[in-house]
Amino acid sequence: MEHKHPVIVAGAGIIGAAIALELSARGEKVVLVDRQEPGRGASFGNMASIAINGFDAISRPSTWKKIPGWMMNPNAPVTVDPLYAMKMLPWFLKFLAAGRPSRIREIEDAGASLATRALGDFTTMLDAIGARDMLSEAACLQLYETEKAFADGRENLELMDRYGLNYEVLTGAAIREREPLLNPAIEKAVLLPQNHFISNPFLLVKRMVDATQRNGGQLVTGDIARVERDNRGVTALILKDGRRLETERLIVAMGVHTGDLAQALDEPIPLETERGYHTQIMSPGTDLRWSLIWPERAFMITPTAGGIRVGGSVEMARLERAPTWKRARILVEHAKFAVPSLKVENHTEWMGHRPALPDTIPIMSASARTNGLYYATGHGHLGLTYSATAGLLMADMIMGRTPPVEMRPFRIDRF
Ligand SMILES: Cc1cc2nc3c(=O)[nH]c(=O)nc-3n(C[C@H](O)[C@H](O)[C@H](O)COP(=O)(O)OP(=O)(O)OC[C@H]3O[C@@H](n4cnc5c(N)ncnc54)[C@H](O)[C@@H]3O)c2cc1C
Repeated sequence: MEHKHPVIVAGAGIIGAAIALELSARGEKVVLVDRQEPGRGASFGNMASIAINGFDAISRPSTWKKIPGWMMNPNAPVTVDPLYAMKMLPWFLKFLAAGRPSRIREIEDAGASLATRALGDFTTMLDAIGARDMLSEAACLQLYETEKAFADGRENLELMDRYGLNYEVLTGAAIREREPLLNPAIEKAVLLPQNHFISNPFLLVKRMVDATQRNGGQLVTGDIARVERDNRGVTALILKDGRRLETERLIVAMGVHTGDLAQALDEPIPLETERGYHTQIMSPGTDLRWSLIWPERAFMITPTAGGIRVGGSVEMARLERAPTWKRARILVEHAKFAVPSLKVENHTEWMGHRPALPDTIPIMSASARTNGLYYATGHGHLGLTYSATAGLLMADMIMGRTPPVEMRPFRIDRF
C-alpha cells in the first residue's frame, strides 16, 4: 500500500533510533521526532551492556522474598518511595500477578525469543552503520561474593541452560586469572561470553540517527503534544509549538513518557519508571578489561570510552522527583569493594528512567484501537540489548511483513 506521508517515529532514544534506522534502510521515508538531542533520555546513561542473560522474569517467588528486606532498608538495591507506594499499587499488583508459575515461563519464553537473537541483530546493525568498533571484544563476569550467593543465584544459570546460552563458572584463582583487579574475597564468578558492551551508549544513538539521516530520514526537534486521528486512523502528530506533522503511520517510542500519550489515546498502559543511577569516573586509575555485574548488589561496572562507569540500582519514585544521589554513591562503594584499585576522581553522576512494565517484557505492538498507530516501549533493563531486534521487528510490523518472532506476548492489550 502506498503512503502519502512519511512514517513518524516519536522519541529518539535507542528504541526509536533503531526503528527509524531500520525503516530508513529499507527505503521508507522516516521522520524522527524528539524534544531534545537524540539519546539524552534513559539511553544516555545505561550500563552499555548487551545483557543476553538478563531476561529472567523479575517477578518470581525468590524476588518476592527479598521485598520486605528491601522495604526496611533505604540503602537496598531496590527501593520504593513510601510517598509513591499507594500510587504504584495497581502496577505492583500486576507485578505480583506476573509471578504466577505459568506466567513466569511465558515471560521467559518471550524474553528468550528476543535475547537469543539480540547479539546477532545488534552486530548486524553496527556493521550496517560502520560502528562495529563500538562493541567490545571482552565480555562480562557475573560476580558472587560467597558460595551461598552463587547458590542463591542459580535460577539465572538454569535460565541460560534452558535456552541454550553459554557460560563458564569460575572459582578462586581462575577468576583472578581473567581479571587480576578483582577483590580476592570474591569466591565465584560466571563468565558470560555473549555479554559484550559498547563504548558509549549516547554516541551510539547519535551514530544511528546520523545513519538514518544519510538514508534520507529527517530529524525534527519538537515537544510532542498529541496525536490527531480520524475514523480511518492516525492523521498527524501535533507538536506543542503548533506544528502539525502529517502521517498515516506513527510509532510511539517515547520511553517512560509513552504512558501519557497512550492514556490520551484511550490505551492506558501500566508503565512506571525504575530510576537508575550511574557514576562516570574519568580518572579511575585502573584499567579494567571486562564488564562486571554483581546481581546481589544490583550494580555493574563497565569500562567505557570515557573511563569506568559504575551504575545500576532500582528506585521506584515519582518521575519528577529529584535524584537521590546517595544511591549512586552506594554503588561506587560496592565498586571499590569489587575493584580495590578503583579511584573515584574526576567523575560525574547521572540518573535516568527505565521504562518498566510489570511483567518485565516490552510492548512492541500495533495499537488495539487506532489504525496506523504502533507502540514500542517498556524495554526496562534491556533497552540497549533489545534495540536492534526491536528495530527489525517493528519495521516488519509497520511494513506489513511477518516478523521472525512471535509478537503476541508483546501486545499492548495484554494487561
Ligand atoms: C542505570 C541504567 C542502566 C542500564 N543499563 C542497561 C544495560 O546495560 N543494557 C541494556 O540493555 N539496557 C540498560 N538500561 C535500560 C535502557 O537504558 C533503557 O531500556 C532504554 O534506554 C530505553 O530506551 P527508550 O528509547 O525506550 O527510552 P529513552 O532513551 O528514554 O528515549 C525516549 C525519548 O523520547 C523523548 N520524548 C519523551 N517525551 C517526549 C515528548 N513529549 N516530545 C518529544 N520527545 C519526547 C525523550 O526526549 C527521549 O529521547 C539501563 C537503564 C538505566 C537507567
